[in-house]
Amino acid sequence: MKKIGSHISFKAPNYLVGAIEESLKNKATALMIYLGAPQSSRRVDKEKYKLDEYIEKYKNIIVPEDIVVHAPYITNPANPEKQEFTIDFLVQEIERMNYIGAKHLVLHPGAHTKFERSHAIETLIDSLNKIFERTSNVEISIETMAGKGTEIGKTLKELKYIVEKVKNPRLNICLDTCHIWDAGYDIKKLDEFIDELKKYDLKKLIKVIHVNDSKNPIGAAKDRHENIGKGFIGLDPLKKIVNSKEFEDAIMILETPWVNGTPIYDKEIEMLK
Ligand code: FE
Ligand code: FE
Ligand code: ZN
Repeated sequence: MKKIGSHISFKAPNYLVGAIEESLKNKATALMIYLGAPQSSRRVDKEKYKLDEYIEKYKNIIVPEDIVVHAPYITNPANPEKQEFTIDFLVQEIERMNYIGAKHLVLHPGAHTKFERSHAIETLIDSLNKIFERTSNVEISIETMAGKGTEIGKTLKELKYIVEKVKNPRLNICLDTCHIWDAGYDIKKLDEFIDELKKYDLKKLIKVIHVNDSKNPIGAAKDRHENIGKGFIGLDPLKKIVNSKEFEDAIMILETPWVNGTPIYDKEIEMLK
């Protein structure tokens, strides 16, 4: 079955059990959580996750491998000044994931800020190597970025360079449809885009796809997600990606805005199927 779900909040009092139940209500078969607030490194004790109850009731309905975890935004693995903090934090985050059995950690490659772009990229490569050395099992998917501000990881060429340098079988790619569109790639021409991915040997590394429409025209480099079918990409191209044979093993995750204070993931998942 197609693996599709959305970003779901992971919160008190039911944590894992709550997140799974909300996903099932949306007819999702996968989900993505942050193990704490996306903008914070504060984390609750693992004992609170309700892991036993999840295993007992839901483990066979949504398997742990299909619970994607997104690293918090504050981690910038490309910033040399914050590298030590980021590595330590992500190593612990991966330990929390191993406790659950979650497999994919989505990580933003970071921003080069005041540093040279090349220095930031080498820092990212070094961070990834050190994280892999100190952890096991969990795979990291670095996300394709819109190129807002000084973000790195905007082009396939740059992502290829990073993957090639790290050369670790636990390093994958998370394709974000809004970001890649904003970065200037015309995903409406899907065959050509897939050829481009293959040219860089990256297609096979796409394990997670963030399915979002974009509030902006192609190349805008803004990173503002829109609801499915309401933006500049549109429903049909997104539906094609979700149902493409080429991406049949990737986990599809929606990160679309809430409407009038509530998520509409249930409707959007239905639209995309
Ligand atoms: Fe992201
Ligand atoms: Fe994303
Ligand atoms: Zn985004």
